[in-house]
Amino acid sequence: MRRNRNVKIVATLGPASSDYDTIRALHEAGADVFRLNMSHGTQADIAERHRIIRQVEEDLDSPIAILGDLQGPKLRVGVFAKGEEDLVAGAAFRLDLDEAEGDATRVCLPHPEIFAALEPGANLLVNDGKIRLRVTACGPEFADCEVIAGGTISNRKGVNVPDVVLPLAALSEKDLSDLEFICELGVDWLALSFVQRPEDVTEARELVRGRAAIMSKIEKPAGVKRFDEILAVSDGIMVARGDLGVELPVQNVPPIQKRLIRRCRAAAKPVIVATQMLESMIDSPMPTRAEVSDVATAIYEGSDAIMLSAESAAGHYPVEAVRTMDNVAIEVESDPTYREVIEASRRVNRQSVADGIVAAAREIAETADIKVICCYTESGTTALLTARERPRVPILALTSLLGTARRLALTWGVTCVMTGELTRFKMAVINAARAARAHGYATESDQIVVTAGVPFNIPGTTNILRVAPCQESLIYATDPG
Ligand code: ATP
Ligand code: MG
Ligand code: MG
Repeated sequence: MRRNRNVKIVATLGPASSDYDTIRALHEAGADVFRLNMSHGTQADIAERHRIIRQVEEDLDSPIAILGDLQGPKLRVGVFAKGEEDLVAGAAFRLDLDEAEGDATRVCLPHPEIFAALEPGANLLVNDGKIRLRVTACGPEFADCEVIAGGTISNRKGVNVPDVVLPLAALSEKDLSDLEFICELGVDWLALSFVQRPEDVTEARELVRGRAAIMSKIEKPAGVKRFDEILAVSDGIMVARGDLGVELPVQNVPPIQKRLIRRCRAAAKPVIVATQMLESMIDSPMPTRAEVSDVATAIYEGSDAIMLSAESAAGHYPVEAVRTMDNVAIEVESDPTYREVIEASRRVNRQSVADGIVAAAREIAETADIKVICCYTESGTTALLTARERPRVPILALTSLLGTARRLALTWGVTCVMTGELTRFKMAVINAARAARAHGYATESDQIVVTAGVPFNIPGTTNILRVAPCQESLIYATDPG
């Protein structure tokens, strides 16, 4: 679906957004990518949401990316009899191995390895650090805590233990089962949580066997430290600020976010900024000024995508949250300062013919009055390289592969349209002109830039650029042969 902005919006689905009407409304309001979080809900819930997304995609004829997010080795509390409880500062609260539903005095923490590693005085942070518990006494099957910072604790909230190093595998039994399940279901992106080493990614890639592109979530100090190596083996990155902000001092997160976004752009790999972007919209139809500013900052930094978590999964205003992001994006991207920042941060190390062609496409499009860059892409690489240039004009990617079209829904500035198999470049130009007109990018009197790789049946060879009129008879008249 054509958007009036370049940055993409990712919306997490959950209980507040599981029916056809809501998912369709989210897409129409601006969600380009849907995230299915394997941490919550059953595989049957996930399959149902997946089915609905594909239905919306078919009904609106608009490629949608699905991002399956593996839970990873995250510690989580069990469930509560009432679903949630309010913990008050100063109160006592016990964590134990008893699988019975929790109440205001205790809840299950089904991880014996934590209890083995805890010491009195250790801090436990719940729900991205909103609740802080301090251990007063502990044994192999329990930890008695004092509530230091209170708040509402609810089912399966995440727990971080920053003071203690826990021996955890990158993929749990549940992750292995979920990975196979969602790859078979058919997701476009698979997100790995708590990536710490490049091997975490390469090992997962062997299991994925090309069925999805791989996104590494950076949310551990080790993942930040080895970021360049992790980026080299990943297809995309998520700056997962929730855990990052409890694993590291919270003030370290903004500089890390900036640095990661720049590195990803240099590598032509999409990057998502995630967590708490419009957190107050879980309960309020209006965001705070600080949240709007946070969303705007990620866009000014050139992020490919911005993400909603609980706002769209479990909040009261999922569609409004998407609309808010859409409005902020349109405003920021029309600000001349945005253009200045984006231009100033274009540090591209060009090496290949394709790098040169996409740079030329941007240069020509911006020099002359050209409305759209149409790029033929099969693997998606040429579209990624074009997006890295962050051109002023929109990018219309044309591909015969639905998987490529879906994956590119995450990439800055790219709208993807399906084409049939092509053999002649002249037909490709005619096709591109038709798509540009049909999707409202250009009229008969406009010119377009078309890039492609010829001959058409050899992948990875973008080697031709043509400035073409949009009118069909003129294309024939000016065809060089
Ligand atoms: P992650 O670390 O993967 O981000 P999370 O627990 O923070 O896990 P999010 O997807 O970011 O999960 O969603 C934020 C909150 O929204 C969750 O903590 C949960 O309370 C709620 N939520 C999200 N998805 C679901 C779901 N499918 N079922 C129930 N609650 C959900
Ligand atoms: Mg997480
Ligand atoms: Mg989260």
